[in-house]
Formats: sequence, structure tokens, C-alpha cells
Amino acid sequence: MSRTIKNGKIASPGIKIGKAFVLKGTDIVTARYKVLDDQVEFEIERFKLAIEKTQKDIIEIQKQTAKSLSKDLANIFTSHLMVLEDPLIIDKTIETIQKDKKNVEWVLDDITQDLITNLSSIEDNYIRERIIDITDIHKKIISNLQNIKKQCLSNLTEEIIIFAPDITPSETATMNTKKALAFVTDHGNKTSHTAIMARALKIPAIVSTKNCTTLVMDDDIVIVDAIRGNIIINPSEEEIQQYKKYKQDYLQFENELAKVTDLPSLTLDSIEIFIYGNIEIPEEKKAIKEHGAQGIGLFRSEFLFIGNQLPSEQRQFQEYKKVAKHFEDMPVTIRTIDVGGDKVFINDKSYKESNPFLGSRAIRFSLKHLDIFKTQIRAILRASHFGNIKIMFPMITTVEEFIEAKSYVEKIKEELKSENISYDENIEIGLMIEVPSALIQADIIAKHADFFSVGTNDLVQYLLAVDRISDTVAHLYNPLNITVLRMLKQLVETSNKHSIPLSICGEMAGEPQYTMILLGLGFRNLSMGPTYMHQVKKIIRSVDLIECETLVEDLLLSETTNEIEEKTRQVFKKKFAELYY
Ligand code: PEP
Ligand code: MG
Repeated sequence: MSRTIKNGKIASPGIKIGKAFVLKGTDIVTARYKVLDDQVEFEIERFKLAIEKTQKDIIEIQKQTAKSLSKDLANIFTSHLMVLEDPLIIDKTIETIQKDKKNVEWVLDDITQDLITNLSSIEDNYIRERIIDITDIHKKIISNLQNIKKQCLSNLTEEIIIFAPDITPSETATMNTKKALAFVTDHGNKTSHTAIMARALKIPAIVSTKNCTTLVMDDDIVIVDAIRGNIIINPSEEEIQQYKKYKQDYLQFENELAKVTDLPSLTLDSIEIFIYGNIEIPEEKKAIKEHGAQGIGLFRSEFLFIGNQLPSEQRQFQEYKKVAKHFEDMPVTIRTIDVGGDKVFINDKSYKESNPFLGSRAIRFSLKHLDIFKTQIRAILRASHFGNIKIMFPMITTVEEFIEAKSYVEKIKEELKSENISYDENIEIGLMIEVPSALIQADIIAKHADFFSVGTNDLVQYLLAVDRISDTVAHLYNPLNITVLRMLKQLVETSNKHSIPLSICGEMAGEPQYTMILLGLGFRNLSMGPTYMHQVKKIIRSVDLIECETLVEDLLLSETTNEIEEKTRQVFKKKFAELYY
């Protein structure tokens, strides 16, 4: 019997049919499934790797404790290491996997539980301590088992659909996109970087299903319909055929939309609206150009920093140059690294933050790690000789911060000049407006900057105090909140007054429902991923500015977000229903 889950949010559109691959969190009931004869060895290997990894982790903690606290305290971990050698757990788990052909988590859960039940009947302080050790170690092994499964994501050998509590942006970016057909998560949000990466890589994704990982088993056949928002588990043959047809229809719909690619991006009253692309990895440049964009409005350069090693100046230079040359004289706006927040790519414990979105993120990180920052600036400046590159700083909070960041560009220009290395002398330097304080002092910063680009993904989270990746407060994250609209209007006015070019590169720019609002607010430069670029252009070509401005005037008179949403929905439904498949 097939079952349908409907409660997720579409993060990246598309339809896929395939086998489920389920990753489980450690805070929920672990998966229990039978394995085939030829999978037994793989399960045992997974178990051995997890034991090895857990041993290493504990030895590391032990060393740290001995160093920072005391050797006596470090000895506590010896009993943890003994649990990992206990034949009652280790040997028995391997034997049971071989005998009962169950997955390792299932076997380990049962054996640990039996052991705890037996020990609990003994009234003894020492035994009580051992029960705590066993419970702790069990958790650690399960967590490592899941991580080992997660590591498989980058070298998958068969086509699968991933089900996971959550997936990080770097896991998404390093997924084998030929094999990872789609993914579905319990948590997450549409503006998280995981969702942004999924759209960039064209992997259909549904997030925030709350409990998908508890409803699906490894190897179940599933249909992920990230158009209507359905996940169908174990579909009937009839349903599979029906969805194959939907898939074809969707392809046809996309081909029809693509006819707008080479048409001018003009409103009915002949106002030109510039469309630029957002990219995360240089390979996306092709899709952006093919969709008809007039350059790159946001190159999220931090995605070059995924991996164990920092990219060298030469490697960065090559990547930036490739993108710049691809777009010839069209602008390519490279944003200096925005690590931190949900993008923790740099493998060093000292980069960890307890409150990452408010911590050492983006430009704050760069100004603290000048070696990394200066290397990147050198690479960008060298590449600027080969195209129309602009530099953009992320998460600027104060004018001082912008001036300081800019001063390093000037210093490196001097350095390059003395080394006779060519670069664009007149390279433009701008910033993301994504923190309320930068928006409020935009008139002051305008005196020092060549351009602004609004990052609504962060602006919304910082204005409304809503974590952009949290699903518990996702209902409060809304770009149509009156505060956001008022702030955007204020920024357009400030930019116009100071004649500073303004664009918008948050996800809002690439959401067709918001296009009329952005035009009505006064935006003329929109930067987005390729997913809805054609729809946005179609809307631009079928509206005139007066109707957009009238809509915005009306929205700004509203008092609740619901009211604004409802009015927006009505206008969109009436005019552009056919743009949504
Ligand atoms: C933004 O915040 O809107 C933005 C474009 O940057 P990012 O999503 O990478 O934080
Ligand atoms: Mg941002």
C-alpha cells in the first residue's frame, strides 16, 4: 500500500522516482531493517569503522582533558574505552548481525538495552556508573554510524533519494549529483543555504516534513514530487506511470518558459530591469548565462572553501578568472567569503561559534583572519584583469568595518603594483546590505561604497529576530512582513538620493510572487539563481510600473503580514496563475 506525506516545504522543484537512503538523527528512534545476505559484510564494516572512530574521538577527548584539566580526570575515559572492547557488546553485535541479518543500529540497540536491563537489577554504585558509560558510548557509536553513512553521500555508487533529519550546505555541495536524485529532510527552511545549494545543483528537495525519516525505510521506492509537495512511499505501478507523465509535462512546461530567454527584460512601459545570476560554484556560470542573465550579481565564494584545505591564491585566481572570462564584459560580483552562520566550512575548532549567525561570520571572520582575507583579495584583484569583476563584502554592520575592509584592497593593489601584476585599477567595491544597522546608516556608507546589494535572506532574519534555518520559528520568517517592506522602501530612497546603484540578491529576488512588489518598491536590478529566472522575466514583461507601484502603495497601508500575503496572492493568482506549474 502506498502512503503519501504532504507536510513538507518545497525547497527545490522537480520530480524524481527512486530508492530511499535514510539517515537518522541520534535523538530519534534508530532505523530497524533487515539486510540481504550480500549486505551483511557492509553492515559489519560500518560497525567496525564506527567503533574505530569512537575510539579515536575518546582518545582525543582524553588527551584534551589531560592537557586542560588533569590526568586524573582524563582517566575517567579509560572506562569508556573499555566498553568499546567489551565482547558482550562488540563480538555479540557482529555475531547477531551475521545470524539475524539485521542492520547494525537495530542489533546494537537491542544488545545495549538488554545489558542495561540486566545491570540495572544490581544495586551497586560502580554498576550504576557503568550503565552511564554504556549509554554514553552507545550514543557515540550510533552518531558515528550515521556520520559514516553521511560521508557516503559524496561517493554514492547507486542512484538514491536521501531522507535525513537535516543536511548541511557542504554536504549538499559535495553530493554526487548524478546519484543523489533528490532529498527530503525533517527540518530546514527554504532560505537555508542547503535549500539554495539544492536549487543551484537542480536537486529536487522537500524540507521541513517534521518526521519523514521515521516513515521511510532504506530501499523503499519513493516518488518525490517537489512541484505539488508530495512524497509517495511504495507507490503503485499506476502511480509510478502517472508521475512519469507529470515529469514529462513539467519538462515541456520548462521548455515553453525558456522561450523568454533571449527576449528583452523590459516592462510594458519600456523600463529595463536587469537580471543577474547568483552562483555558489563556478560550474553554475553556464546555466546562468543560458538562462539569459546579464552577469553575476552574487558569487558566493565561500563554497570554494569546502574541504579540508583552504584554497590557494592560485586556485582561487583560476576560478574567479574562469567566471569573469565566461561573462566577458558583463559584471561578475564576487562576494568575499561568508563563512560562519550555517556555512561552517573551515575545519578548525577555533572557528566554532555558540551563536553562529551573530558571531564571527562573513566580514567579521575575514577581518580576524587576515591571511585568508588578503589571499582572497589578491586572487580577486588578479582575476579582475580578465573581466568586469566587482568586490562585495558580506554582513557589513558599521561604516568603520567597510572602510577597514576596503583599506586592505588598497594595500593589496599597491602590493600587486610593486610586483608588476595587472589588475583593474577602477574595480568597484560594494557591500551587502543585510544587517539592519547597515541599512539604517546606508546614507553614511554610501559615501564610501560603489554599490549596494540587499541580502534579504539575512535582512529578514536580523530584522525580525528569526533564525533563517530554524523550522520552529519558520512561520515568523516572512519577507512580506511590513517592517521588511518599509525598510526596503527606505533603502531604495536612500540609494536613489545618493545615486548609488542598488540591486537585490536575496532569495526574494528570484521568487515570482515578489517580482511586482520589488519593481513597485523601485528595484531595477535583480539577482537570482536560475530556478525561476524565466518566470520572473515573464512577469517583468507583462506588467507596467504604475500597477506595481499601486500594489506596493496598497500593501504598505496594510497592518498585518496576513493581509499583505493575501493581497499579493490575489494579484498573482489573477495575473500569473499559468506561471506556476
Ligand atoms: C542574503 O543574505 O540574502 C544573501 C544573498 O546571502 P546569503 O544567503 O549567502 O547569506
Ligand atoms: Mg547573507
